[in-house]
Amino acid sequence: MLVDSHCHLDRLDLAAHGGSLDAALDAARARGVGHFLCIGVSAENAAQVKALAERYPDVDCSVGIHPLDLAPGEAPALDWLLGELNHPQVVAIGETGLDYHYEPEAAELQQASFRLHLEAAQVTGKPVVIHTRAARADTLTLLREAALPQAGVLHCFTEDWDMAKAALDLGYYISLSGIVTFRNADALRDVARQVPADRLLVETDSPYLAPIPHRGKSNLPEYVHDVAQFIALVRGESFEQLSAQTTENFRRLFPLARVRAAS
Ligand SMILES: [Zn+2]
Ligand SMILES: [Zn+2]
Repeated sequence: MLVDSHCHLDRLDLAAHGGSLDAALDAARARGVGHFLCIGVSAENAAQVKALAERYPDVDCSVGIHPLDLAPGEAPALDWLLGELNHPQVVAIGETGLDYHYEPEAAELQQASFRLHLEAAQVTGKPVVIHTRAARADTLTLLREAALPQAGVLHCFTEDWDMAKAALDLGYYISLSGIVTFRNADALRDVARQVPADRLLVETDSPYLAPIPHRGKSNLPEYVHDVAQFIALVRGESFEQLSAQTTENFRRLFPLARVRAAS
């Protein structure tokens, strides 16, 4: 069984499934995907991701504000975030983090928001889902400062082994998406080979960045199968071994998620 550890189910392009989310989830289940973590990105979509987690027993969600979804000049309020986290199916915080690739001018605001999410993690004990791009040093600095007792995950990891190693040393997990299948992703394949087996997760980040051989199409949770198959090959492991291990890792990292027992 596989878990898609990061998908945006409220944003999927469902054309390939006749406009039906039920059909898209069924297609993923048919390819062995037993659980989905649906990720919040804004105050606006928090209600939607919670509704999906309430509707499907194999879907849990996170709530948070993506670094590129911050309203200019305004970090979210801690009270609001803690209120959202006070829901049994909100099993994680995020996605939060730093993205200087697209909005370097918003660095200060992103840092304030990231700190606030880390504070909520300190209060609630829930794990943080981190988005980081072109912001290695600051991401690591804030994670060190926060010194959370619980682990979190660097999702859709696209940095090099040095960054992965530093995050692993702080106790974080690394989640790989379909980007690892892209032709120019040699550095990422190096990361895929080196991450310890018990710290690796797989995800689609659907609807974004579909893996080869689906590149160019809108991404769907069912393609986490292709991501896992590719990573297993790179690591020289069997698909079954990688699936079982990453699912076990997900369960350990997100203890509140309703992942069904290993069979
Ligand atoms: Zn992200
Ligand atoms: Zn995402």
